[in-house]
Amino acid sequence: METIAENITRLRERIYNRALKTGRKPDEITLVAVTKTVDSNRIKEAREAGVTVFGENYVQEAMGKIRHIGEEVSWHMIGHLQTNKVKHVVPLFSMIHSVDSVRLAEEISERAIERDKIMEVLIQVNIGRENAKAGGVKPEELPQLFEAVSSLRGINVKGLMIMPPYFSDPEKARPFFTTLRELRDKLFPFYSDSLPLSHLSMGMSSDFEVAIDEGATILRIGTAIFGGRK
Ligand SMILES: *Cc1c(COP(=O)(O)O)cnc(C)c1O
Repeated sequence: METIAENITRLRERIYNRALKTGRKPDEITLVAVTKTVDSNRIKEAREAGVTVFGENYVQEAMGKIRHIGEEVSWHMIGHLQTNKVKHVVPLFSMIHSVDSVRLAEEISERAIERDKIMEVLIQVNIGRENAKAGGVKPEELPQLFEAVSSLRGINVKGLMIMPPYFSDPEKARPFFTTLRELRDKLFPFYSDSLPLSHLSMGMSSDFEVAIDEGATILRIGTAIFGGRK
């Protein structure tokens, strides 16, 4: 069994090498360590190995861990978010990856304004997943949602997120990543961290290298760091 620290070292090497290979700057790619089902002690190991951003899917599960690990690191909400949970998320998380409706965005904005905060969000796009439960806005509805969300005072739209269907062959995920980049490029044609929509959150343990080729700036990786989940 490799340790978490060893996994992270290896992962960082792979990210670095792939970025260079595809002509990108490694430091414009943020690693989010996905910690669903991972206990606090193992999260601390990752923090000690230099990880500074963690991703959680479930609000309840995250609240205990954040209390334990603290807020010196950043927490991203990457899972589907219900409107009635937003009040817990806004104070604890620095970014929400899963905005897919005006109603959810309005609630986030209101709660953020209450706390004198501007919440960074990504809009989740649903490409190729038929069941609506997966979350995400349809590509044809993205421009309209982007405009509505951008006008909210408590929100800063930082980019787009996609969770493609799972494939054992990572090449099969490539067209989904390409499509997300093209959707972004239609709305904002160049990358700059200071612009809205500059970020593409895409790529997981099985397909992050392909995602880097296609322009990912945020990778959400669990298994390759912490091992398989039960
Ligand atoms: C679990 C999860 C990940 C990480 O998946 P791995 O295959 O373990 O790297 C990334 N994004 C979301 C939204 C997830 O739920």
